[in-house]
Amino acid sequence: MKTPFQYKGVHSCDAVVLCCIDFRFWRETMKFVEEELGIKSYDFPKMPGAAKAINDCQGETDVPLQCIGVPCDLHHVEKIVIVNHADCGAYGGSKEFSGDDEAEQKFHEVQLKSAKEKILKYYDKEVILVYAKLVDEGENIEFILI
Ligand SMILES: [Zn+2]
Repeated sequence: MKTPFQYKGVHSCDAVVLCCIDFRFWRETMKFVEEELGIKSYDFPKMPGAAKAINDCQGETDVPLQCIGVPCDLHHVEKIVIVNHADCGAYGGSKEFSGDDEAEQKFHEVQLKSAKEKILKYYDKEVILVYAKLVDEGENIEFILI
């Protein structure tokens, strides 16, 4: 297979978007990032739990922080987007919250804010926090800016 390379001679992009590996969310996350946040070019690392992977880092050389560091240092990104999602297996899923959607969202907000704080210790960039919530009895994903 051969396909056109859109970025010949281009070595910078707008953002890095860190999301969870979960197959149920990443396509919709791309749509949100491109259509709602207006970010067209971005590195797109995925780690289990997204913010969890950052919060678990011991230092800058740990892989999750490298997933942020390489885009900052090599691709000159201006924005860092972190997306956590509902029913995330890395955190034990929604069952950890016994069906309390608000408690689950609050938990993820704390996780996301903690990851932002950690990232800001290393990189002086705009950090955008997003929670992908399951709504309408699990029929839809709603992306919420934290
Ligand atoms: Zn997940």
